[in-house]
Amino acid sequence: MFIHQNYPDLLEKDRKYVWHPFTQMKDYESRDLLFIDKAEGVYLYDVDGNCYYDTNSSWWVNIHGHCHPRINQAISRQVKEIDHVMFSGITHRTGILLAEKLVQISPEGLNKVFYSDNGSTAVEVAIKMSFQYWLQNGKQKKQKFVYLENSYHGDTIGAMSLGGIESYHALFHPLRFASFSVPSPQFFMEEDASSEIVKQRINHCLHEVEQHFISCADEIAALIVEPLIQMAGGVHIYPVDYLIGLRNLCTKYHIHFIADEVAVGFGRTGQMFACDHARITPDFMCVSKGITAGVLPLAATLCTDEIYDAFYDDFARRKTFTHGHSFTGNPIATAVALESLQIFEDEQVLYHVQKNAVHLQEQVKSFEDFSHVSNVRQLGFVAAFDVMKDKEKKLAFPSNERIGFQIYETGLQEGLLLRPLGDTIYYVLPLCTTKKQIEDIVHRTKRVLRKLGL
Ligand SMILES: *Cc1c(COP(=O)(O)O)cnc(C)c1O
Repeated sequence: MFIHQNYPDLLEKDRKYVWHPFTQMKDYESRDLLFIDKAEGVYLYDVDGNCYYDTNSSWWVNIHGHCHPRINQAISRQVKEIDHVMFSGITHRTGILLAEKLVQISPEGLNKVFYSDNGSTAVEVAIKMSFQYWLQNGKQKKQKFVYLENSYHGDTIGAMSLGGIESYHALFHPLRFASFSVPSPQFFMEEDASSEIVKQRINHCLHEVEQHFISCADEIAALIVEPLIQMAGGVHIYPVDYLIGLRNLCTKYHIHFIADEVAVGFGRTGQMFACDHARITPDFMCVSKGITAGVLPLAATLCTDEIYDAFYDDFARRKTFTHGHSFTGNPIATAVALESLQIFEDEQVLYHVQKNAVHLQEQVKSFEDFSHVSNVRQLGFVAAFDVMKDKEKKLAFPSNERIGFQIYETGLQEGLLLRPLGDTIYYVLPLCTTKKQIEDIVHRTKRVLRKLGL
């Protein structure tokens, strides 16, 4: 069978036929892409049998480890019943039961679930629902969207219009719709979140947001945020108080609050959702990535009854939400998501994460001893630090040294799949990672840093 072709031939075919995401293909003219052949628990194995810790949960999606037997069984069970069916005017068992479960575990007041199939579409759905809501409520001028500096909400054009990362988004600026940014709290990360200075800065940022709202709330449909961690923007963790403040301002000025939990949802921060740390309910909540334990594509946009009711009317009044994707609510994906949430309960996953997160925090602190490491930060099972040429002077390495890429390559030699964001090294660990594995990952990362003289 052709899948048994030997891997050097396959790698040649990869060069010939495949274009990989976020990858400069020329980097692989003379070096090989990492060829993964097997995955189990927190480990990935390449074709030569080398083993790597999946320290970024396969792009922030994996939850219970790879090839969890119960997840695999859920897939086989479901394919024997229904593989796929359209979801417009048709429903199915796992689609219904998952929606019920999501409503039960999400912040109080989010009562309706609209499925799609990836994080970007979950965001697009929230954007379009918010826009249409205001249109149908006599507020035609509310058409603009507000996002935080340094934010990331996906790569489709709508989601990208709400992105604040220069290196990804500037090029496509002419395609972006009218939107504007408000301050990102990213600069808090070095300080103790309870300190007086941090409080003052939060108030300062919130004041700036409020000034924007005062000047043009009648033109703003919604504010979108990544709750507590701006992941793609460099794993910046910010205090709960900023999130609460933004929620309150949105309520005060009649602006929808969209929580993009695509990266942080499903236990990553130690609570089921990052919004749970702040005990807030957004008007919309977008989830994807970890929803299926990181195994199949699925997404959902949850909203309040108030939003839903604005669309619920006689057909002739043309309030139908005319949006949908071919694979909306796929039965296999929803079956897997249900099984994953059952595993959360049966294996007390959140309890395990909270307990081991304390250990992770202690472990990563020791990175501060390295002379080129700064801004060590952690929340739940997410941790990060920046490597700098001169950390006192806050001087970055010249970009042509590609220090992040060097760390990635050296990491592979040490059995770690680290995939830095620029010069930021981070972990987004599978939630099943044990205390011992955490120690081993940190230990190996230190070897990488020493090897590179950092
Ligand atoms: C990854 C991500 C998205 C986009 O999800 P895709 O499934 O890659 O389209 C949106 N928002 C956040 C916060 C993300 O991290």
